[in-house]
Amino acid sequence: MLAETNFAAAAPFDPPALGEPYLLTPGPLTTSYPVKQAMLRDWGSWDGDFRAMTAELRRHLLSLIGDTGNEFDCVPMQGSGTFSVEALLGSFLPRDGKVLVLINGAYGQRIAQTLDYLGRAYATIDKGDYMPPRGAEVAAALDADPAITHVVVVHCETSSGILNPVAEISEAVYGRGRKLLIDSMSAFGAIPLAVDEIRYEAMVSSANKCIEGVPGFGFIIARKSELEAAKGRSHSLSLDVHAQWAHMNKTGQWRYTPPTHVVAAFLEALRQHEAEGGVAGRGARYTRNRDVMVDGMRALGFETLLKDRWLSPIIVTFFNPAHPNFAFDRFYEMMKQKGFIIYPGKLTVVDSFRVGCIGRMDEHVMRRVVEAAAASLKEMNVDTAAPPPAAIAERAKLAA
Ligand SMILES: *Cc1c(COP(=O)(O)O)cnc(C)c1O
Repeated sequence: MLAETNFAAAAPFDPPALGEPYLLTPGPLTTSYPVKQAMLRDWGSWDGDFRAMTAELRRHLLSLIGDTGNEFDCVPMQGSGTFSVEALLGSFLPRDGKVLVLINGAYGQRIAQTLDYLGRAYATIDKGDYMPPRGAEVAAALDADPAITHVVVVHCETSSGILNPVAEISEAVYGRGRKLLIDSMSAFGAIPLAVDEIRYEAMVSSANKCIEGVPGFGFIIARKSELEAAKGRSHSLSLDVHAQWAHMNKTGQWRYTPPTHVVAAFLEALRQHEAEGGVAGRGARYTRNRDVMVDGMRALGFETLLKDRWLSPIIVTFFNPAHPNFAFDRFYEMMKQKGFIIYPGKLTVVDSFRVGCIGRMDEHVMRRVVEAAAASLKEMNVDTAAPPPAAIAERAKLAA
């Protein structure tokens, strides 16, 4: 068991705990000592103390979108991020509406799959593993199909790490009088999504991504007019965003058992987020993490799937080295032994792996990640991490 003094003594970016590896993954991710420590007591969900915590959580999250007109509200929802995405889709898409889903990876596909379950009509623009959906093609699709009422886009598609161009997509959508919903799960809190810069009706994220909390709930930030209109629309009792919102506004409570410890940890994570300089400060650290890590990995011969313009500061996909001695499973185990959990790739065409830049770590940690990768290659007798020509040919398809 960890003594309390260990928490207090820890510097901000010390290893997570004795013997615990860093999670270079897009959530759950490495959290700070104070965030973990905040979970060391119990709260009654009906009690005023916890209700005040819920109110603070909602207020703080809303402050991150710069809603000066007081037009939006925040509704937390129990479960992992996917539960909140399903809640969002079921609550904000009219049953007789039609959705255009922009897909370039697993999370866009999951949105389409959810719409199958919900029985909502939809069309897709599917760009494959990682090509970005562009404003012009969204505009053309909307012009071609007047039945489409809503567009759904993934902000950072975590399966490749691409940062999708949501600003130009938003312009295309509202230029044609349609509405936009954003899955900003892995971007919110580190990449700006200010409502006076990018127009949208609702967005969704969760506790265990860029705010650096532990898993257990997601949250929806939506225009109040959309929240009102969602009344009676949801297919699901527990995922009804309007019902959760109305109940929370009336009683200060979640409708069903809230993840009390997760909320307490999240409030501490929000305080740290603010102390770091909010969205700008968090984004700057992650960007530095990415730049240090990518530079170091490139020096070893590794190449990124994406060209620099599309690289997010959230997670980066690298091609597996072509060298015959390289085996990902061994590389993974060697990295883990050195204290770093990396993430397998999700591409269908070429072999790849991913390294996350988010969580409680800084550029010094990222330098050690690169050192660990170099040492692991050496142990495998791989003298260069250069990818196979097929990988480079694949990447050439991506515009600069
Ligand atoms: C993490 C993530 C989700 C939600 O995943 P869960 O495993 O349900 O938490 C949804 N969309 C994106 C883009 C994500 O990164």
